[in-house]
Amino acid sequence: MDSPSAHRIGVGVYAGSFDPVHNGHLDIARRAARLFDRLIVAVYDRPSKSLLFSPEQRIDLFRAGLHAAGAQNVVVDGYSGLTVTYARDRAACIVRGLRAVTDFDYEVQMAQMNRHLEADVETVFLQGALEYAFLSSTLVKDVARGGARLEGLVPPAVADALRTRLQQGRP
Ligand code: ADP
Repeated sequence: MDSPSAHRIGVGVYAGSFDPVHNGHLDIARRAARLFDRLIVAVYDRPSKSLLFSPEQRIDLFRAGLHAAGAQNVVVDGYSGLTVTYARDRAACIVRGLRAVTDFDYEVQMAQMNRHLEADVETVFLQGALEYAFLSSTLVKDVARGGARLEGLVPPAVADALRTRLQQGRP
């Protein structure tokens, strides 16, 4: 029987704003790292959303989360511009996580636009784990602002960073 690595499929780019990374993101990254020879977690520097953390902080927090999870063959990088261009330049697939049907419309629309722009770049969707289906960075920030427990939602380094960042006041 083939070893699992015989079925790995080149380079994957798991892209997002990750403001901040949470356990649902880490679960997708861990599982994508088992599928691809190499996984690049690509942290978008300026999405059209208001951000709590700087690009450098979001990259460092993702690295800290991966380190705690012991993921191999994964690098974390920052990028600007279009995700599909970043993936094309690295001959990579785009990896996205799907929580529920609510993610589906937007993600499919984005994948179709990316295919329109770069027909050779495939998008791979991984089904989010049920135990993290309710998790989003927005909700995590709301919970942190409310002073509630963050255990089980984010790695300890992210919980600490959220508390510190929120003590500094709103962005
Ligand atoms: P965006 O790229 O829209 O800024 P995020 O940075 O929050 O979004 O998420 C990056 C990727 O992770 C997206 O593909 C998103 O669907 C996925 N994702 C977010 N939360 C979860 C979760 N709880 N479980 C699985 N995938 C998730």
